[in-house]
Amino acid sequence: MKRAPTTMGPAVADLERRRDALVVLDIDEVVIHFIEPFKALLEEHGARLKADDFRLTGNVRSLSTGAALTGHELNGMTERLYEDQETRQTLVDGVREAVAAIAPVADIVFLTAMTPSFYPVRRRHLDTAGLDAPMIATERSKGGVVAELAEIWPGPIVFVDDLPPNLVTVGRSVPRAFLVHLMASETFRAHLPPLPEGAASARDWPHATDLILRRIAGGAPLSKAAPGA
Ligand SMILES: [Mg+2]
Repeated sequence: MKRAPTTMGPAVADLERRRDALVVLDIDEVVIHFIEPFKALLEEHGARLKADDFRLTGNVRSLSTGAALTGHELNGMTERLYEDQETRQTLVDGVREAVAAIAPVADIVFLTAMTPSFYPVRRRHLDTAGLDAPMIATERSKGGVVAELAEIWPGPIVFVDDLPPNLVTVGRSVPRAFLVHLMASETFRAHLPPLPEGAASARDWPHATDLILRRIAGGAPLSKAAPGA
C-alpha cells in the first residue's frame, strides 16, 4: 500500500505573514552544502562520485570493485549525511548576509525535500546559525506547497532551488513566481539540465541576493541568465 507523503514543520495556514513578498529557499545546496560533504562521506566509505550526468544513481562507484552503488545504498548514505548534518553540512558562503538583506523586505520560508524525520536536527542546525525562518520538510511536490504559500502572500514570490525540475514544477504551479537557480557545488555544473523559461541563474549568494532584491523592488525585468553564467 502506498503511504501518503509526509510533511514536518508548521502548516502553511499557521505561518505568520509580515510582508507582502515571500522568498522560498530550498536548503540542500542553497543554504547548506550537500554535494561536497556527500562526496567526503562517500570517500570515507570507499566510494567516489564522478558526475557523468545530472544524477547520483550510477555516478557513485565503489573504489575497490568499481560497481555502482544502488539507489538503496545511496539512500543509506544520504540518511547518514542528514544524521550528521550539524557537523558535515556547513553553511553556503553568503547565506547569512543574504537572509539579513532579504528579511526587511520579504518573509522567508525554508522548503526542503529532506527526509522529514530529520526535521528536528535540521531545525536545530539552522537555529544555531541564526536562520530562524520557518521550515517545511516535505515529500510533496514543491509546486503544490509553493502554490499554497502564494495564496497567502499577495506580493512577489521568489523560489530558489538547485534542482531544475523543482524550478519547473514551481513555475508551472505558480506562474508569477520568480525562479532562481543556485547550486553551491561545481560538481554537476557541466551537466545541468536547461532551466525553465524566465528562470535566473545565480553564480553565488551575493549575485542571488541582488537578483532577489531587484525583483522584490519591482525593478527592470531581469535577463534569463546572468552574464557569464
Ligand atoms: Mg536542494
